Amino acid sequence: MQSKQGFNTRAVHAARGFTGDTGAVMPPVYLTSTFENGNKDGFDYTRSGNPNFRLLDACMASLEGADYATAFASGVSAITAVISTLAAGDRVVAEENVYGCTYRLLDRVFQKFGVDVEYVDLSNQEQWARITQSSPALVWLESPTNPLLKVLDIAGISEVARKVGCPVLVDNTFASPLLQQPLALGATLSLHSTTKYINGHSDSLGGSVVTNDPEWHERMVFAQKALGLQPSPFDAWLTSRGARTLGLRMQAHCHNALCLAEWLENQAAVRSVRYPHLPGHPQYALAMKQMSGGSGLIVLELDCSSEQALEFARSLKLFTLAESLGGVESLICHPASMTHASVPPEVRRSVGITDGLLRLSVGIEDVEDLMDDVRSALETLRT
Ligand code: PLP
Repeated sequence: MQSKQGFNTRAVHAARGFTGDTGAVMPPVYLTSTFENGNKDGFDYTRSGNPNFRLLDACMASLEGADYATAFASGVSAITAVISTLAAGDRVVAEENVYGCTYRLLDRVFQKFGVDVEYVDLSNQEQWARITQSSPALVWLESPTNPLLKVLDIAGISEVARKVGCPVLVDNTFASPLLQQPLALGATLSLHSTTKYINGHSDSLGGSVVTNDPEWHERMVFAQKALGLQPSPFDAWLTSRGARTLGLRMQAHCHNALCLAEWLENQAAVRSVRYPHLPGHPQYALAMKQMSGGSGLIVLELDCSSEQALEFARSLKLFTLAESLGGVESLICHPASMTHASVPPEVRRSVGITDGLLRLSVGIEDVEDLMDDVRSALETLRT
C-alpha cells in the first residue's frame, strides 16, 4: 500500500499500536507464548502471531510500499518459508551468485525433496531465456548479490518471468527498502535478512518476506506457523526499534562507502574495487537507475593469497573481521573462508570469489578514520 508520507516518517510511525491502556509511546515486548481465547486482536499462540510481529510487519510493508509482510526468525528462515511452498519436481531458476547459505539450503536440503535448481548468470540478458525455456516455479535472485555486488535488472527479469506466469523473488537485503523497492519494479516477493540493515545494530536476527499478493502472504503466514519459523518477540521488538533510524543510517552508509570506494580505487595495492555507484562497476548505469544509493558494501580484490588477505583484514582496527553486514559498525569479511566456505571451491572460483577477495561492510563511523585504518593495513601488506 503506497503512503503519501515520506520514508523516515513511515519508519518512525508505522510500528505503533497496542499501547492504548498505558499511553506508552513505545510498544512493550510481549513476552507471552499464548493468549486468552477470544481476544479482540485475534492472537492465539506466539508461533502464529504476536503483537511485536504485527508491528514489525506493518513497518516492513510500509517501508516497501507493500500490502503484506511476514516476520521470521532469520533471513534463512524467510528463505526456508518461500522454498517450502515448492513441491517435488518444481524447478527454481536462480542467479548463480547467491548468498552461500541460500545455495546450501537449495542444494543440500531442498534438492533432497525433489526441488531442482538451475543456476544462471542473470546479469547476462541472453540467459533470461532460461526462464521462458525451463518453465520454473520460481525465479530467485539477489541484487546487489552477495558477495560480488552484481546488480541485476529486476524490472527486465520480472517482465520475462511474467510472460510465463512465474513469480520472482528478490533478496533485497543488500539494498534495503530505502534504496530499492523490488515490488514496484515488478517482483512478486521481496525478502530481507532484517539481521542486517533493517535492524542495523548487530544485536538480533530476523527475516521478512514482503508481497502484494494475498495468496503468497497466506503461504508465508502458514510457513511461519507450520514450520515454526517465527522470531522471538524480543528480536522482533529490537528490529522494529532499529528500523526507525533506517533512513538516516542508510544515508551515512552510502556516503561513507562511496568515499571509501573512490579512495580505494587509487591505491596501488588494490587490484580492483567494486561498488554499485562507482562508474567502473559492470552494471553502473543499471545501479544508478535501480538504486537511489550504492548502499554500504564494497568488494575489493587484493593481489595476494588467502592467508595474506586474512592478515590484511586482521590488521584493521576499526573493521572487525566478522561475518554479517549492515550494522552501524564496520566489518570485513573474507568470503572464500567465511560466508561462502560452504560453496564448493570450483563453484566459488567459477563465479569470481577468489582468494584475495574481501567484502567491506562500511559502518557509520567518520569516513576519514576508516580511510586511515585501511591505509595503515595496506602498508602492513606491503612490508
Ligand atoms: N540473504 C542475504 C543476502 C544475506 O547476506 C544473508 C546473511 O548474510 C541472509 C540472506 C541470511 O540471513 P540470516 O543470517 O539473518 O539468516
